[in-house]
Amino acid sequence: MFETIAAISTPRGEGGIGIIRISGDDSFEILNKIFKAKNPNKDLGFYKFNYGFIYDGDYMLDEAMTVRMKGPKTYTCEDVVEINCHGGYLVTQKILELVLKKGARHAEKGEFTKRAFMNGRIDLSQAEAVMDIIQGKTEKSISLSLEQLRGDLRDKIQNLKKLLLDVTAHVNVVLDYPEEGIDEPLPAHLRDNLENVHTEINKLINSYDKGKKIKEGIKTAIIGKPNVGKSTLLNSLLKEERAIVTHIPGTTRDIIEEVINVRGIPLVLVDTAGIRETEDLVENIGVEKSKEIIEKSDLILFVLDASRELEKDDHQIIELIRENNKKAIILLNKIDLSRKITRENIDFFDGEILEISAKEETGIEEMEERIYNYILEEDVEDSSEKLVITNIRHKSALEKTKEAVENIFETIDSEMPMDLISVDLKEALDSLSEITGEISSEDILDHVFSNFCVGK
Ligand code: GDP
Repeated sequence: MFETIAAISTPRGEGGIGIIRISGDDSFEILNKIFKAKNPNKDLGFYKFNYGFIYDGDYMLDEAMTVRMKGPKTYTCEDVVEINCHGGYLVTQKILELVLKKGARHAEKGEFTKRAFMNGRIDLSQAEAVMDIIQGKTEKSISLSLEQLRGDLRDKIQNLKKLLLDVTAHVNVVLDYPEEGIDEPLPAHLRDNLENVHTEINKLINSYDKGKKIKEGIKTAIIGKPNVGKSTLLNSLLKEERAIVTHIPGTTRDIIEEVINVRGIPLVLVDTAGIRETEDLVENIGVEKSKEIIEKSDLILFVLDASRELEKDDHQIIELIRENNKKAIILLNKIDLSRKITRENIDFFDGEILEISAKEETGIEEMEERIYNYILEEDVEDSSEKLVITNIRHKSALEKTKEAVENIFETIDSEMPMDLISVDLKEALDSLSEITGEISSEDILDHVFSNFCVGK
């Protein structure tokens, strides 16, 4: 149905293995033209690895293992071939070029996954989950994405749609057969349907804040005067190999982000360079710089040296945090030394205060636990709702549905004409269908798949 596409599906660079993936009707034919199995008489079969060599005419390009997968039981639902070759930059490129020469077209970003969607194997929310898994920063965010990939969100949306469709059926009867004289605009059980939809959608919308934190992390700043122990703290957090360094490709330069994984929530550190290069910033990381950093962050870890008296600067920084209304935790560090600051000295600070020794690594575990609870605080009561949305696109669609449902309540309560309800019902259903992609414009699809990498 679609053209046959191909791409290198492994990251570019040198690695043990590189995989070239081909999908479409011509996949097997293309493989036949370039692959010679070691045992030429052997049936290549399906879903089996075959050992052999890739040839461009008589010229041998690489040794390879290839597998043929018969649609529709494949990632894309089409015939798929995967060529496992040596993972060199040039070798994979050469094999890809050969595959293209034999009739495939180079796949666009996310096109394999887009085909899985177009061919009906997954819905749009599942396609988005694939991307989120690839970009997942912590196990927790990946497990949310896996639930979405499994179809949990899709199923939930389908259930909500069913409730709305019951209402639609009734409204249509009333509108189509006015002579039946159905007076009461909406029977109680259908009103319940709408109430249910409204409640469930609200829960989903409210889960977004938590989902966003788990997926994207919290922008976190570690601030404090020179020598209070910021870099020691950072190192003790990073030492346990829970830190991930991610490169975000930017237009002008690559930004390197350092991420600390705290109980599955990624803390994306703001301005770590400022901490690492304290030597010459020692005098500069004063109140002005702190102000700048506080503004960029969602969570502030303000480190104080408990063995030194509280100074004017410290008061100023606490004041800044308060003015900015940011979540902040004061870390009273160096509690292994004799104390000059106690909790009582800073009881004017209304956030969390924790006592630690970054050097001796005491209180770090507890600190992580408290950070976790502190960040998710507002969600604790609502932990009964398991399904968590992480995607802003889903949130906006749900908000549109919610508005439409509220309009319906208004129409009913003010006894306005029924046809108004049917307009809003359609709007509510359509918005839900946008999430799963049953209704989708090229714009939405482009937007979703342009975030993918080539080869996925
Ligand atoms: P920064 O300038 O805030 O990044 O501070 P550093 O992390 O470089 O620490 C300054 C000094 O304090 C270093 O000599 C650290 O070894 C020491 N230090 C950091 N944390 C502690 C602690 O918990 N206890 C003690 N006794 N010393 C610490």
